[in-house]
Amino acid sequence: MPVTVAPPGASWLVADSAAEILTPEKLDDEHRLVGRTAAEFVEQEVVPALDELERKNWDVSRTLLRRSGELGLVGTDVPENVGGVGLDKAASVIVGEAIGASPGFATAFGAQTGLAIIPIFCFGTPAQHRQYLPRIVSGELVGAYCLSESGSGSDALSVRARAVKQADGSWVLNGEKMWITNGGFADVFIVFAKVDGEHFSAFIVERGFPGVSTGKEEHKMGLHGSSTVPVILQDARVPAENLLGDVGKGHKIAFNVLNYGRFKLAAMCSGGAKAAIGEAAAYAVSRRQFGQSIASFGAIRHKLAAMTIWTFAVESMLHRTAGLIDSAIGDDGHEPKTVAAALEEYAIECSLLKVAGSEMLDFVIDEEVQIFGGNGFVRDYPAERRYRDARVNRIFEGTSEINRLLVPTMLLRRAMKSGLPLMQAAKAVQDELVSVTPPAGSSGDAPLGNERRTVTAMRKTALAALGLAATTYGDALQQEQEVLMLVSDIVMEMFAADSATLRAAHATAAGHPAASLQADAAAVFTHDAALRVETHARTLFAGMLTGDAQRTALAGLRRILKIAPLNTILPRRRIAEAVIQRKGYVFE
Ligand SMILES: Cc1cc2nc3c(=O)[nH]c(=O)nc-3n(C[C@H](O)[C@H](O)[C@H](O)COP(=O)(O)OP(=O)(O)OC[C@H]3O[C@@H](n4cnc5c(N)ncnc54)[C@H](O)[C@@H]3O)c2cc1C
Repeated sequence: MPVTVAPPGASWLVADSAAEILTPEKLDDEHRLVGRTAAEFVEQEVVPALDELERKNWDVSRTLLRRSGELGLVGTDVPENVGGVGLDKAASVIVGEAIGASPGFATAFGAQTGLAIIPIFCFGTPAQHRQYLPRIVSGELVGAYCLSESGSGSDALSVRARAVKQADGSWVLNGEKMWITNGGFADVFIVFAKVDGEHFSAFIVERGFPGVSTGKEEHKMGLHGSSTVPVILQDARVPAENLLGDVGKGHKIAFNVLNYGRFKLAAMCSGGAKAAIGEAAAYAVSRRQFGQSIASFGAIRHKLAAMTIWTFAVESMLHRTAGLIDSAIGDDGHEPKTVAAALEEYAIECSLLKVAGSEMLDFVIDEEVQIFGGNGFVRDYPAERRYRDARVNRIFEGTSEINRLLVPTMLLRRAMKSGLPLMQAAKAVQDELVSVTPPAGSSGDAPLGNERRTVTAMRKTALAALGLAATTYGDALQQEQEVLMLVSDIVMEMFAADSATLRAAHATAAGHPAASLQADAAAVFTHDAALRVETHARTLFAGMLTGDAQRTALAGLRRILKIAPLNTILPRRRIAEAVIQRKGYVFE
């Protein structure tokens, strides 16, 4: 159910958005059916195969990809004319969440859907669509994405792989790609190489092409159920028609694909967190110490509530972003250029989601291990595998650092080039910061009125921080990474609190049965997020300003970011009680 008008990316940072956002509560029967299909597939076919996957039996991986293709799960993102089922991004989120509960397979699935299908669909020619997409979408062919090299991970554009055009128009590729997911058994590789060592470009490379080979499986900390190998190109012969997109335009492909990969990764993290909450709650209920279930202890309840609240916030951002992307795509889902443009438009949201989703998951699973106690540390119980499997989410698809650095950089670029009135909004807040007149407060009568006011204060703080950083450092801001990271964290907290409170307010207005618990979750999240924002902002202002200017700005910050005291213990208890009763996540 897409929202109707597509607001520009990151416009929620410039002004309060009263607009409809997509929330999980607004999903329709078709979405629920897709969700059930995916969940049943995972429960009945993926979970029983996990141990075999961990033994690196890639035939099983291939069979599962094929099965998910048959069920229409691989093709949610692409239209029927290329073999897909052409559903919206909300459906992709639901499928991603369901598959994300089993990370070993989810990684293979993510590489197939996000990293192999999307580049060919968005940037391929009609002939490339015909040749590859139906067979990758059906799971007959397995795809992989080869961007990283041993010397270029985060610095992706500095790849050393080379492509040289031959007299007959074909290409010869040389180089070695590292850490390639699905690499051990993939049939088709999206390979990035520089034409003549200069022009960053992409190619569709088949395993069967002369000169293509793969190396040994990496010995990893986790994700033993997914293949990760080097891909070696030694005078690899690639036909002329397998250039993907234009020579020198590979960065467009690489970055847009990563945008979507980040969005999907967040969906998988959300699904993994929900599964972990279910396992932790069930274990807490059954485990007895001191003559009672450990679920009766406040310390454990606090953990279950915290895990749930953070998952709720990420889930809210995720569905909101799905709705934004869907609204930008409109009825043009069959049109590759429209899809690519929509992904680019919401690149900031995708980066924020990637960081928030992966860090939320690590928090949730760390607490799951803790709730399992000694059993959390041994392999017979699920928490141990989840813990190891989750860690890489903060590393691949752009590390947490790279994504954090990207956010303010992209915001400022949009302000300069795309007309996002960010600097005007920042200037207004900076004026307010030094003014002696208290800012006007909005009504507290609306659902979650206090929390919405706090979000407004967080928005102002984010604008002030970004504006101050831009004016203090100008072009040299890129060198001030500590500042960029803090600005990014403030923006991320604001987007999360904004999404969570809007969702809870919608649920309240609609009389949804979980509305009151959602209001609890949104209130606790917003309160705690505002405290974190305050700390970040104080660090920033103290780091950027001195003397009177610093004192004035910090006084202004205290005026703007007034955080109403909230008893967060009681709402946490209510949430924990519901999680324990359900033995699972409560907002589905
Ligand atoms: C299991 C697994 C699967 C993977 N699958 C794929 C795949 O299918 N395809 C693919 O192409 N790649 C894949 N990768 C590679 C992955 O994308 C890279 O590992 C990742 O991008 C980080 O690159 P790196 O390892 O070279 O780390 P580096 O770039 O060396 O980073 C090391 C540290 O330095 C930080 N850092 C780097 N640059 C900066 C900077 N400018 N400012 C501040 N900090 C910085 C990083 O955040 C990180 O903390 C996979 C990796 C793993 C582990």
